[in-house]
Amino acid sequence: MKIILLGPPGAGKGTIAKALMQIDGSVQISTGDILRAAIAAGTELGKQVETAMAAGNLVTDELIMGIMEQRLLEEDCQKGYLLDGFPRTMPQAEALRDLLEKLGEKLDCALELDMPRDVIIERLSTRRTCTNCGEIYNVISKPPLVDGICDVCGNDIVQRDDETEEAIENRLQIYNEQTAPLVDFYRKQGLLVSVPTSDLDPVLAAIKERLKP
Ligand code: AMP
Repeated sequence: MKIILLGPPGAGKGTIAKALMQIDGSVQISTGDILRAAIAAGTELGKQVETAMAAGNLVTDELIMGIMEQRLLEEDCQKGYLLDGFPRTMPQAEALRDLLEKLGEKLDCALELDMPRDVIIERLSTRRTCTNCGEIYNVISKPPLVDGICDVCGNDIVQRDDETEEAIENRLQIYNEQTAPLVDFYRKQGLLVSVPTSDLDPVLAAIKERLKP
């Protein structure tokens, strides 16, 4: 399947993408993960995006499109892909539409996950992430067995720079201004599927309904 995951930060796009991957081997492509890996590896790309990301600002459309134009050509995309965190602006959505047209590919749908603002802020500000393997924890609902240490790989777990309350507010504002208009863009193309939750069962039911022949 070829699906775009839309929705504010913290709505559960990554979790849903990981669950959908199990269904047919489609690959999750998270632009946020790609950029965080570049920062961790200290690459030129990482240095370019570090400051913007820590503040919760978007990185440039040119940079993101450069990454995605290459990524979508890779072998593992043949089985399908779940785009998590991309596109995030109208220029990105238009550039993706043109790119897919050139590649002769069609999206199955744009899945919009929604969640009330107070729940998002609560979820993100209590989230912690392993610095090594990326495993996600929550200080209230899913604490690690040993405080500050990843259950999976034993490395440190931390609060991401962009999950402080100030950065979260900024990310939500940017979402409303720059990403929310994409909902209409995909609705007009008949591609939008909206689910007001990230609970797995209703999301899977909505996708199955959508993918019915
Ligand atoms: P995420 O993990 O998807 O919340 O992304 C984390 C951060 O990476 C965002 O706050 C942006 O700084 C950057 N980022 C990820 N994807 C994009 C994108 N499609 N366009 C611009 N910036 C992005």
